[in-house]
Amino acid sequence: MHANWTIDSVKEAIATNKISARELAAEYYKRIDARNRELNAYLTLSPERAFAQADRVDALVASGKPLPPLAGVPIAVKDVISTRGVRTTCGSKILENYIPPYDATAVQRLEAAGAVILGKTNCDEFAMGSSNENSAYGPVRNPEAPDRVPGGSSGGSAAAVAAGLAVASLGTDTGGSIRQPGALCGIPAMMPSYGRVSRYGLIAFASSLDHIGPLARTVKDAATVLRTIAGRDPMDSTSADVPVPDYVAELETPIRGLKIGVAKEYFGEGLDNEVRNAVETAIEKLAQLECEIVPVSLPHTEYAIPTYYIVATAEASSNLARFDGVRYGYRARNARALSDMYRRSRDEGFGAEVKRRIMLGTYALSAGYYDAYYLKAQKVRTLLTRDFDQAFKKVDAIVTPTSPTAAFKLGEKVDDPLAMYLADIYTVTADLAGIPGISIPCGETHEKLPIGLQILGRHFDEATILRVAHAYEQARAS
Ligand code: GLN
Repeated sequence: MHANWTIDSVKEAIATNKISARELAAEYYKRIDARNRELNAYLTLSPERAFAQADRVDALVASGKPLPPLAGVPIAVKDVISTRGVRTTCGSKILENYIPPYDATAVQRLEAAGAVILGKTNCDEFAMGSSNENSAYGPVRNPEAPDRVPGGSSGGSAAAVAAGLAVASLGTDTGGSIRQPGALCGIPAMMPSYGRVSRYGLIAFASSLDHIGPLARTVKDAATVLRTIAGRDPMDSTSADVPVPDYVAELETPIRGLKIGVAKEYFGEGLDNEVRNAVETAIEKLAQLECEIVPVSLPHTEYAIPTYYIVATAEASSNLARFDGVRYGYRARNARALSDMYRRSRDEGFGAEVKRRIMLGTYALSAGYYDAYYLKAQKVRTLLTRDFDQAFKKVDAIVTPTSPTAAFKLGEKVDDPLAMYLADIYTVTADLAGIPGISIPCGETHEKLPIGLQILGRHFDEATILRVAHAYEQARAS
């Protein structure tokens, strides 16, 4: 029952009165009604807000005025991104009843462009996870194989788009959480450069690593959404004042002659054979499209996972200190004293993985261990960034697998956090370096599970990797 609406087909149908924005939103809510019980992709629906926006779009159509780029397009938003008046839980019990008083800038920009926000999607608690099994509200199921995980942490955002319960969605990526679920659910999913999209209103996990980005049914749709949400925002001082190119217009620039890097470090042990074969076939396809395939080396890659899990947990331990039962969310009852209230609210409100990370991060930042762990990790982070700087002197983009395996079974890795962390081996490097990356479908396993190809680019050069992704997608379809 996969819906085939794309942004272009929605726009065309709405502009020519084949369907109204209200009817389209109603169609999507009907589908959500039919499938969400099974998939658990949405945590909260926002029909009031969606229909009010759809009516505004329909009024615009009736007036004959030009339509904005996302007029009437039904979109889902990961539940770590603030939505004014609409419950935002971060997949956590601690924010079970939290209703933000303001919108994230990305949400504001989507609505200003005419998008209809259908609701909020399930995710690992505070975006910590790779399988969506760390949500306090139950796991999401992979629409392609319901006994398997959709990936994480943006599992709900990926499943919603893959199952046709939204045309596109917003996810967040701190260590791979947009690209990996995109790969496991078989859809394009893009993490922009650090600084490209405002983080205002994104409830922080690790501030120096968090990125908001699109998941969509086509590369072009991902480009359209990214263009809408990108650009400097005075509310986020880390958002960069760098012009945003017209990503959609640039998609058609031929990729012939581009230099595509392949790093042996991304094809080592632990990479599933079917994934390896699919990615190698994709690389051959790029060669047929007259790209030049160039071997590159990213020698510090083996240190990426430990570095990421020190930096991310350190920042998380600090960011999550704000949840204390006083200002936001869950408060333990019948506490004997203030300190008891803090302790019990956090103990009862946070899940096991979040607690594990707060402890790890607090330890890494503690006076006796700061130099040995946090400071060391920051230095290695610089080395990882330099690896990419060196490689991008020689090539325009780098292709890798997105995930070492296709979607694994629900429950398969929940008791082994380290095995779960290793699933991020190909994605965390880009977050640490701040460079953009996109995952696009490049094949299937013999069990028909989607496989993702990752394309990484230079800082702020989303346009090139979108072009490569688009050209590959077109060539693969033809
Ligand atoms: N899986 C990684 C983690 O658990 C990445 C999460 C993310 O990108 N938000 O931290």
